[in-house]
Amino acid sequence: MMNILVVNCGSSSIKYQFIEAETNTRLAKGLVERIGMSGAVLTNTRHDNDTIKLTGEILDHGMAIEYVLAVLLSKNHGVIRDKAEIHAVGHRVVHGAEDFAGSVLITDAVLQSLRDNIELAPLHNPHNIRGIVACKQHLPEVPQVGVFDTAFHQSMEPRSFLYGIPYVFYRKYKIRRYGFHGTSHFFVSNRMAEIMDKPITDLRIITCHLGNGCSMAAVKGGVSVDTSMGFTPLEGLIMGTRSGDLDPQLILYIMGKEGLSLAEATTLLNKHSGLMGISGVSSDMREIETESEKGHDRARIAFEMFCLRVTKYIGAYAAEMGGVDAIVFTGGIGENSTMVREYVCRNLAFMGVDFDPAQNTDGPKERMVTTADSRVSVGIVPTNEELVIALDTMAIVNGEVPPSMRNMKKNNVLDPVE
Ligand code: ADP
Repeated sequence: MMNILVVNCGSSSIKYQFIEAETNTRLAKGLVERIGMSGAVLTNTRHDNDTIKLTGEILDHGMAIEYVLAVLLSKNHGVIRDKAEIHAVGHRVVHGAEDFAGSVLITDAVLQSLRDNIELAPLHNPHNIRGIVACKQHLPEVPQVGVFDTAFHQSMEPRSFLYGIPYVFYRKYKIRRYGFHGTSHFFVSNRMAEIMDKPITDLRIITCHLGNGCSMAAVKGGVSVDTSMGFTPLEGLIMGTRSGDLDPQLILYIMGKEGLSLAEATTLLNKHSGLMGISGVSSDMREIETESEKGHDRARIAFEMFCLRVTKYIGAYAAEMGGVDAIVFTGGIGENSTMVREYVCRNLAFMGVDFDPAQNTDGPKERMVTTADSRVSVGIVPTNEELVIALDTMAIVNGEVPPSMRNMKKNNVLDPVE
């Protein structure tokens, strides 16, 4: 049996799961919060729901990993007796740029390319790197694998990934669409094909990952052909605090009028826009829905704008793929908001979505929300990025092709010397 520690490092937090990969059994999961701040907290939940909370000073990611290992090994709350029972570590890495079209064993050269790409993901990659370095330090004999949020979308063709700006900027600064949430889009599209009992290579699927960050992907034959997030995770859908698509000129206009610096404009679009900025109420969809139902006008408009944007991308991706066989909802909003799914699906009858309101409101977590004879199947599939990371990590350690790279055609980058 192979036990994999799956690690997702943020700026001041580490989420982890300890998974027995062959059987998909989660032995433990947990979260370290407030790393580097006062009153850091580690919460660990074992498979039998035994939960412990530790508070203390956790100065950096290295110390946090030390604490996680101590908990996994602890006499009373642990799940292993020896560090040697951790067979591999799988890291979620946000940005693989054009260097990684799939999961890889982390060597010194890989770590160097991650460092080289920090500029492309300044908010995420430095913390991912810290986590990798910390795990190497505390588990020096254990193989480490990187699984990238961008990798699944590296199959996009230049017509989908380039922007309508001078080509020289693609060369000079690697400006292009990368897309994110790839592990989730991969997982839910494949799971949807399984549920439909059809080979994914025969299907055109639109996946909607709607959480705090939101993105959609057009998955044709198991391959991502387009996605709504772009050079950064700001593009595309309206999100909790991010604007999504805009007229790019408007930000220049606001910067001029308000005398904003680059940093202030970045904060405006990433932290003060989206549902929060429009409604003035909250970035949280539950509160938007509650306020909207109570008659709060701007909350209602924010809700409608959110749903309309999702609907528009479904139309665009259906056209781009020459049709659509299935649509999948996932993420906190996609999995839980009956109102969002209803608003979106009600507008899609014209393309063959036969919406089933009863199925939409109630049922198991994973279910269809269309009737059995609907031409397009719409389903809810809870995402499981940790499982993808664990299975990819196991495959790489065993010298096999990782499951997430099964249908990958090629790393679609343009020839650097043209
Ligand atoms: P993250 O992207 O940080 O992982 P999640 O996937 O957990 O976030 O999604 C968080 C979003 O899901 C929030 O906007 C939250 O309001 C929304 N959400 C969670 N449960 C519900 C629900 N029952 N109805 C509507 N929205 C919900």
